[in-house]
Amino acid sequence: MRIAIYNNDIDNSNAIKQSLCALLVENNLIIDNEKPDIVITVGGDGTLLGAFKHYVDRIDDIRFVGLHTGHLGFYTDWLSSELVELVMSLKHDNGQRVTYPLLDMTVIYNTNEAKHFLALNEAAIKQPMGTLVADIFLGDKLFERFRGDGIAVATPSGSTAYNKANGGAVLHPKLSAIQMSEIASINNRVFRTLGSPLVVPEGQKIIVKPKSDNFLVMYDQSDIKDASISELRFQVAKKQVHFAAYRHVDFWQRVHRAFINDIDN
Ligand code: NAD
Repeated sequence: MRIAIYNNDIDNSNAIKQSLCALLVENNLIIDNEKPDIVITVGGDGTLLGAFKHYVDRIDDIRFVGLHTGHLGFYTDWLSSELVELVMSLKHDNGQRVTYPLLDMTVIYNTNEAKHFLALNEAAIKQPMGTLVADIFLGDKLFERFRGDGIAVATPSGSTAYNKANGGAVLHPKLSAIQMSEIASINNRVFRTLGSPLVVPEGQKIIVKPKSDNFLVMYDQSDIKDASISELRFQVAKKQVHFAAYRHVDFWQRVHRAFINDIDN
């Protein structure tokens, strides 16, 4: 089994990476950052998003393990105090994994050229200045004309991130669906949108045709600024992301721990 380590660039993560490398070598595990079977991220959820982008072309062949340098995150199940336990789990690995859905974003340009992007959390179309005007189609039917700051489309595992800040629902990642949420929509007697998040199942598309200029397209930590984008299509991706499930953390426990725990008792 070949293992890659992907860390953020803070001193603590670098130190943890060194200790982890030494333990892996001591236990005859192979470090291979080019073609790994397992990618261990050292940092936070943002580091895992970075690793996802880095290894996206090999996403079918990889399982991720998230090691958090602070408190546990949404994609990070291990703490830096648990290096020995983690290496023992790697040694006794038998391919166990959990799989989450991904978002497929197709960007169509004025030339009709199409480019595909995969997102682990979400994609968003935002208008930094002025109002985003966009026609939104569900399947091939025009559903609404949106006016406001923007639109986000999230995966189930991304539903606890930006989507949640937009008033979106938290979706269990066993559901193969994507969720569209509005960012500050204009709703009055003249302009009308649904005004609530909507969830679209696998096999259905959300199509956004922007009518205004100077909008920005973002996916996870990346952005695309291109005036020649004519259309964006979103659907549940055919590819999925895999995590090595050495110990099961119940999704609702994770949500509880992240959002409720501090005010318990
Ligand atoms: P960042 O450093 O700005 O961190 C954003 C926060 O989002 C961090 O606390 C991170 O732990 C958390 N986060 C990331 N993925 C999560 C998930 N799936 N569930 C719950 N929390 C999650 O940026 P970053 O670390 O590079 O992460 C990028 C992500 O930040 C984007 O994908 C987007 O979801 C999120 N974001 C959120 C808001 C918001 O809540 N208003 C705004 C912009 C971006």
